[in-house]
Amino acid sequence: MASSDRISQTLVRHELRQTPVRRAVLQTLLDSSFALSGNEIEQKIGSEIDRITLYRTLKTFEESGLIHRVIDTSDTVRYAACSIECSAHEHFDNHVHFKCTNCQHIYCLNQVAIPAVTLPAKFEAKTRDYLLAGVCRECQE
Ligand SMILES: [Zn+2]
Ligand SMILES: [Zn+2]
Repeated sequence: MASSDRISQTLVRHELRQTPVRRAVLQTLLDSSFALSGNEIEQKIGSEIDRITLYRTLKTFEESGLIHRVIDTSDTVRYAACSIECSAHEHFDNHVHFKCTNCQHIYCLNQVAIPAVTLPAKFEAKTRDYLLAGVCRECQE
């Protein structure tokens, strides 16, 4: 489980006020080894959170660079906690995501950088998503 120190420090670093909901949402994302959808976060936290507050919190976190969206070929938007170095100002997803076709979990492979891509003239990328699919470590055991 993520320590309460780490949660406090992360919120402080991003200049966010500490509220029970923010702490609970961040804790849930930090404790998960794979990305979670809004519904999954809601289920894990339980009844003390209302949906509007949850989505507002996710939006705030995303804008502050604490979490990032994980895009998948389905319409489900999932979120994952960013690694420590991320800041709101230089937020550009830089790592590969991996979707397990067996357990359906999507992992952030923070240690695997997205390879450099050379674009044709006058094309300027603003976001990038790099998704690989296959079988995860858990499912191979
Ligand atoms: Zn799996
Ligand atoms: Zn990620």
